[in-house]
Amino acid sequence: MSETVAFSKHSVNVFFHILTKCNLTCSHCYINPVQHGTNTLSVDTITAWLKIFVNKTRNANLILLGGEPTLHPDLAKCVKAARAMGYASITIDTNGYLFHDILNKIKPDDIDFLSFSLDGATAKTNDQIRGNGCYDQCVSGIRQAVNRGFKTSLIFTVSNENIHELHMMPPLLRHLGVNRFFIQVIGIRGKSRDTSSTLESEKLQVDCNTWMTLIPSVAEQVADLGITVIYPKVFLNDNEIFECAGQVADNYFIFPNGRVYRCPLCEDYPLHSFEIIDNILVPKEKINEQDLFALNIPEGCVMNKLVQPGNLSYGDDGTPDYKIACCLLKEEVVSRKS
Ligand code: SF4
Ligand code: SF4
Repeated sequence: MSETVAFSKHSVNVFFHILTKCNLTCSHCYINPVQHGTNTLSVDTITAWLKIFVNKTRNANLILLGGEPTLHPDLAKCVKAARAMGYASITIDTNGYLFHDILNKIKPDDIDFLSFSLDGATAKTNDQIRGNGCYDQCVSGIRQAVNRGFKTSLIFTVSNENIHELHMMPPLLRHLGVNRFFIQVIGIRGKSRDTSSTLESEKLQVDCNTWMTLIPSVAEQVADLGITVIYPKVFLNDNEIFECAGQVADNYFIFPNGRVYRCPLCEDYPLHSFEIIDNILVPKEKINEQDLFALNIPEGCVMNKLVQPGNLSYGDDGTPDYKIACCLLKEEVVSRKS
């Protein structure tokens, strides 16, 4: 059975994009250079910014992102700096190319997870989304990491372009020796915003019925193989309470131009809550995303309604059929094999 992971102010989650440069051009990439910058932060700046968010009284969890973070020549130094200053967990999200010989520069104990992105169970589907050769490279990267004793996660971003292969993932995950499986839902932001359509036949996001039937059942199969699964809730039942993480949790999404958001759905807009100026976190003037978090609408998440309303549906009387959960609300199905 899955369990909803409750929001908490007892830990801080830091999603740190240390650069936006990437070797790939995935069709759904959410990086938006106009909004997020194109610079690569120096290791000194990264260290200074990490210090802002580490918290001695609460666990601070760090996710290092890009772009492709292994393109940063000093990624290993950043990891070691984060560990030394007390981050409770460190994850590196990668597309699998593992540049700068990163597996030889860090040890499995230096990080908690290496998290690989694969958006299909076959090269055909994955490479249509992520580019030619990506599937083989990612699988090879996972194998190298597993062989060297790193704990690995795999992130599969579900859309109507690849959901037909989700049921093929459990044997692949077992075969690769992955420890954790993240199912993500595609967000209509970045490049997806430019390519998405509101036509039913061309929508990127899967509908409520498909999501509610398929995702939990694949998650159960994967958990039976001894792999923990985490997936976003997306659609709330009548008896489930809507909460906005921007109000009840402590998440920071940091970009190399100094913008700091509390909500990923705001990242295409200059709605960030803070800016880092001279290595100090400065609140941004109104109007910003925090003014939106407090709005109470029958559809649930207000940003969802503003930026990706195609996943909503309504009855004849105009009442929404369901609420959309905060995009940060997750279900977890814990591994059932030791
Ligand atoms: S690997 Fe990540 S950062 Fe690079 S293009 Fe793909 S989605 Fe964007
Ligand atoms: S996704 Fe919606 S509910 Fe979650 S933080 Fe953003 S505005 Fe709030």
